[in-house]
Amino acid sequence: MTFASPATGPIRSGAEYVASLRGRGLRVFLMGEVVAEPVDHPIIRPSINAVAETYDLAGRDPDLATAVSPYTGERINRFLHLATSTEDLVAQGRMQRRLGQLTGTCFQRCVGMDALNALHSVTFEVDARHGTTYHQRFLAFVTAMHRGNLVIGGAMTDVKGDRSKAPHEQSDPDLYLHVARRTEAGVYLTGAKAHQTGCLNSHWLVVMPTARLGPADRDYAIVAALPVETPGLTFLYGRQSCDTRSAEPGEPDAGNVRFSGQEALIVFENVFVPWDRVFLHGETDFAAMLVERFTCYHRRSYVCKTGVGDVLIGAAATAAEHNGVEGASHVRDKLVQMTHLNETVYGVGLAASHQGRPMASGVMLPDEMLANVCKHHVTSVPFELGRLAQDLAGGLMVTMPSLGELADPSVGPLLRKYLQARSDVPTEARLRILRLIENMTLGRNAVGYLTESLHGAGSPEAQRIQIRRGMALDVKKELARRLAGVDPADAAEPG
Ligand code: SF4
Ligand code: FE
Repeated sequence: MTFASPATGPIRSGAEYVASLRGRGLRVFLMGEVVAEPVDHPIIRPSINAVAETYDLAGRDPDLATAVSPYTGERINRFLHLATSTEDLVAQGRMQRRLGQLTGTCFQRCVGMDALNALHSVTFEVDARHGTTYHQRFLAFVTAMHRGNLVIGGAMTDVKGDRSKAPHEQSDPDLYLHVARRTEAGVYLTGAKAHQTGCLNSHWLVVMPTARLGPADRDYAIVAALPVETPGLTFLYGRQSCDTRSAEPGEPDAGNVRFSGQEALIVFENVFVPWDRVFLHGETDFAAMLVERFTCYHRRSYVCKTGVGDVLIGAAATAAEHNGVEGASHVRDKLVQMTHLNETVYGVGLAASHQGRPMASGVMLPDEMLANVCKHHVTSVPFELGRLAQDLAGGLMVTMPSLGELADPSVGPLLRKYLQARSDVPTEARLRILRLIENMTLGRNAVGYLTESLHGAGSPEAQRIQIRRGMALDVKKELARRLAGVDPADAAEPG
């Protein structure tokens, strides 16, 4: 097997993780310029810090953020662990909430975790039907990832071209990632993956199909693992609102100085993957199952946003306190409303994990209906929390001058004097909290808190389709008819 592990052994801390990303020679473009070393780029670094926090949390709280690998016997980060019990699924959700609290943004590792868990059962079932050997290859890959305690990025979303057409019907075949060529040694992949969360911050990528495929889409039915530094990959880094604030001298206007999310468009040009890293090749009949299982895991992973919601609730409460209004009944009521909405998401997400069911391969899959309902709440709840936080913050959040000016000898004293609220609260503390609310609801981390909540793991309509499929109206109508004494023979013909 050809899986490189770091020469230094497993990564055990955020600092070791950051060091492991250096010198990889990736081809990265940001704002039209080549990024020589992403680790040192001021706009990219906060996203790396967010992933580093997943390692540091594992060091501080191993019960919460690590598990023991059944393949190596060593402690590994929980993001690499395959969930074999409902307790494992619930533990993922608790860890995700904590990391949301610590970073206030997207910490990027859930996609890889959810991809591994989905692939465990799907590769097992493909082998059972087709007599292939994908599952053993997949387990060898997982074992290597456990040895290095590495970060895996799951890459599912294709750019999709004309949405009314299947992959093989597109005017340009590259609009879905596909096998352009195959040899005795492996496959060559061409195409692109969009919105790739944390891809640069990963060590390995796992590519997967994005949609249900038909027999004519055979070249598009590809699942494969590859190192992020594989030749032929180009990363076009996504801009985020207010991202250049992270590159300005001084820091307080960034709002959340340390942490941010990351998305990029990855372009594949004849990227080689050897056969031992290919986990699906041409079995179009399993593409839909893989997408559904992955989204089932990933949609309940969005409890991550409840940790971010905790930060926003705390910021809103602090802003009210700074203004001296925390005792007002409407303020308390708004904080109760924010908490009620936030806990609703967490409750449904954890319930999806508690109600998991075992797959034939031995992993545990969350409840599909509850996972979809969790994510569907996430498409609206953070927006309402954002509205309430802005309500409590007041308009100064978007009209105040740069915090850098507090240090200016002529302007600084004026700002401190006129932007003072409660006399016992330093003006700078008040303004920093407002900058954090701006960062989360309008600025850089609104990408993760709002728009990613809407479209990540599938846009709202994708969850409504799954909810419609699972709503079992016939069963429910029968319950009603029985209690109402309506003869089943009197049922209307399905229209
Ligand atoms: Fe994880 Fe949430 Fe980021 Fe998705 S949006 S990768 S679930 S932190
Ligand atoms: Fe995401």
